[in-house]
Amino acid sequence: MKHLTYFSFTIPYNEYAQIKPIEITGKWKLQENWTDLFAKYFNNKNADCNIMFKKHRVSQKHSAHSNYITAEGYCNREFCSAYYYLRVKSVPKKEKDVTVSVRYVFIFLFNCYIQFIKFFV
Ligand SMILES: [Zn+2]
Repeated sequence: MKHLTYFSFTIPYNEYAQIKPIEITGKWKLQENWTDLFAKYFNNKNADCNIMFKKHRVSQKHSAHSNYITAEGYCNREFCSAYYYLRVKSVPKKEKDVTVSVRYVFIFLFNCYIQFIKFFV
C-alpha cells in the first residue's frame, strides 16, 4: 500500500472551536471528541488509512517556537503499519480554517521488536 509521506488537512474553525484546548487542572488539553473530529478530516484526505489516535500534546506556553498541538496515531487496517504524526503549528486564528500537517512514518514489526523511524522533530 502506498502512503503519502506528507500531507495536510484543514478543519473548519467552527468545528475546531468545539474541541479547542482548555486548561484542566493546570494542563492544556484538547476537549473530548477531538479524535473523532481529527479522524474525520484525516480520513477524508487519506482514505487508505483509518487513523486511531494514541496521544496528543498541547504546548503549555503557546510559544511561537514550538508546535501548538501535536498528536500521534496509527492505522488500524489489517496489514497496514502506518504511523502518523500530526501537528498544528501555531494557535489558530479566529474564524480561519485550522491546518493540520501530517507526516507518515512506517513501522516494522518483527515479533516483539518494534522499530520506528521518526521524521518529525
Ligand atoms: Zn493504513
